[in-house]
Amino acid sequence: WERIDIQRKNKDELNDLQDEYNKMIDRIEENIGKQQQFVSDASHELRTPLSVIKSYAELLKRRVEKKPELLHEGTDTILRETDRMKTLIEQMLSLAKNEHENLNLTSFDAVGALQSVIQSITAVYSREIQLHVKERPIMVFADNEKLQQALYILIDNACKYSDREVVTTITKGKNTILISVKDFGEGIDSEDLAHIFDRFYRVDKARSRKTGGTGLGLSICKQIVEVHGGTITVESKKNEGTEFVITLPNE
Ligand code: ADP
Repeated sequence: WERIDIQRKNKDELNDLQDEYNKMIDRIEENIGKQQQFVSDASHELRTPLSVIKSYAELLKRRVEKKPELLHEGTDTILRETDRMKTLIEQMLSLAKNEHENLNLTSFDAVGALQSVIQSITAVYSREIQLHVKERPIMVFADNEKLQQALYILIDNACKYSDREVVTTITKGKNTILISVKDFGEGIDSEDLAHIFDRFYRVDKARSRKTGGTGLGLSICKQIVEVHGGTITVESKKNEGTEFVITLPNE
């Protein structure tokens, strides 16, 4: 009986191992699929500005002597599209670099970090950005620069997609800190809401191209929050506004 029992135990352990192994293979395959999708989307996104640059460069080469007025339009477009490519490449690198081992963790006051982001965005948009905070400091153990990058993305979007005031709130929970960024702008449809954290996803591609949007901002933001062990949620109502809430473990 003892021998049968041991054999059964070994068989169970072997089955568990097999399950574990299959799950691991599934995860690896899923990751490879995601990487392939990313490379294909990224190539597509880079190809568009590159084609525009090439067409204008060819046009200028052929026609600028006969039509000197093309020079202005052509160089402006080439400069705009190279800026776009630069932003795309910087954001893709940022996505590639946001790993645990690249975090520069220190203990700091999250209120100060939020204030500093509000200050730099106020310099860009002439917009009222409110800061609601009941106590100070609210200490967090995080990568200060990356946290500011994540907050910048949310507040910058709130300013881009609404023309009224933006309200930020920072509060201390029991084991967490919560940062909310709320706007009263155009809002997001529920179908789009399910995808806005996907890489390269934009609700209105044409408009987003004009404003310089790449569709990578929110995926970078989510990734930063998640490498810190936090979460990000969003609630939105069409034509009423949107609220993003970041929850991070406290110090
Ligand atoms: P983008 O570079 O286009 O702003 P993001 O990843 O930051 O890319 O955002 C993805 C999309 O989500 C945007 O194109 C926009 O359609 C939508 N979005 C993001 N933030 C807001 C907001 N505060 N209000 C309305 N729509 C938003």
